[in-house]
Amino acid sequence: MISKDIELAAEIVKNDGVIGFPTETVYGLAGNIYSTKAVNKIYSIKQRPLHNPLIVHIKEVGDLDQIAIEIPEIAGIMAQKFWPGPLTLVLKKHPNISELITAGHQTVAVRVPNHPIALALLRQLDFPLAAPSANPFGSISPTTPEHVEAYFKEKVPVVLDGGNCKEGIESTIVGFKGESAVIYRLGSLSKEEIEKVTGPAILFNKAEEAPEAPGMLSKHYAPQSTLYVTDNLSESISKFSDKKIGLLTFRQHREEQNSKHQVILSPIGSLKEAASKLYTALHELDAMKVDIIIAERFPDHDLGRTINDRLERASKQ
Ligand code: AMP
Ligand code: MG
Repeated sequence: MISKDIELAAEIVKNDGVIGFPTETVYGLAGNIYSTKAVNKIYSIKQRPLHNPLIVHIKEVGDLDQIAIEIPEIAGIMAQKFWPGPLTLVLKKHPNISELITAGHQTVAVRVPNHPIALALLRQLDFPLAAPSANPFGSISPTTPEHVEAYFKEKVPVVLDGGNCKEGIESTIVGFKGESAVIYRLGSLSKEEIEKVTGPAILFNKAEEAPEAPGMLSKHYAPQSTLYVTDNLSESISKFSDKKIGLLTFRQHREEQNSKHQVILSPIGSLKEAASKLYTALHELDAMKVDIIIAERFPDHDLGRTINDRLERASKQ
């Protein structure tokens, strides 16, 4: 059920239940971090392998000490600057954090979401929420309450309605080697924004050898239709001319293509707008049951880098 009733959602999570809730990035599947029953439910509903850890959501920076220990100075500075916001910090876990949440790691991923409903819910609780994205493992992340409901039906009794997610793409996950920042997953906070605070950051991209985050798995975020990423739209459109094509472009409309099956992410050329609409567009094109989605590769900087990362992973067979 899609609902605006925060008290009802609070009651469910207080009783070891799991709900869908909005954040500024994507919708999450949330439960009490201190309830083994709730955390197990999250993994089973999502069909997420137990070796993939969850993100802990707290209501304010002041709660960080209950989640993590030995916090590097630079991490504290980033938390002050970017929270509430789409930055997830990977830190040494507090002994009270179960290894079920961290998937056996001694590190924990944590953030303060920047969404009034998520924060209102967290403020009604005396525990933080563990919440991965509210999609079955490997599929496109949800950016509307309807996406969550369509994925899980009655398995998730309540999805709190927060409308469309403002950022529309997952948080950026950052860990530390000493005082240096390591980006485990690109997200809606750009590498450039992070580096203004941390100096040069290392981009962790050894996905095949050590998938420390499922968002780093080479195949992820995938629609049902085949996705094809290209630098040359005209060539790709003619290559697949015998197929029903769904087209995803940055700013241009393509005359040779049926407008109905075409999504332009940002006619004004804003990477932020394009990122915020990416998953909604993939959900839409997928629902049209096209044979193939052809997506234009983005300029490889700022949020274009994050968009390209998602397109690449979604296109892996
Ligand atoms: P999701 O919320 O579904 O986007 O997934 C949470 C993301 O956080 C996944 O990519 C996790 O692997 C990542 N994550 C959680 N804990 C850790 C950790 N200790 N180290 C690295 N990544 C983590
Ligand atoms: Mg996810």
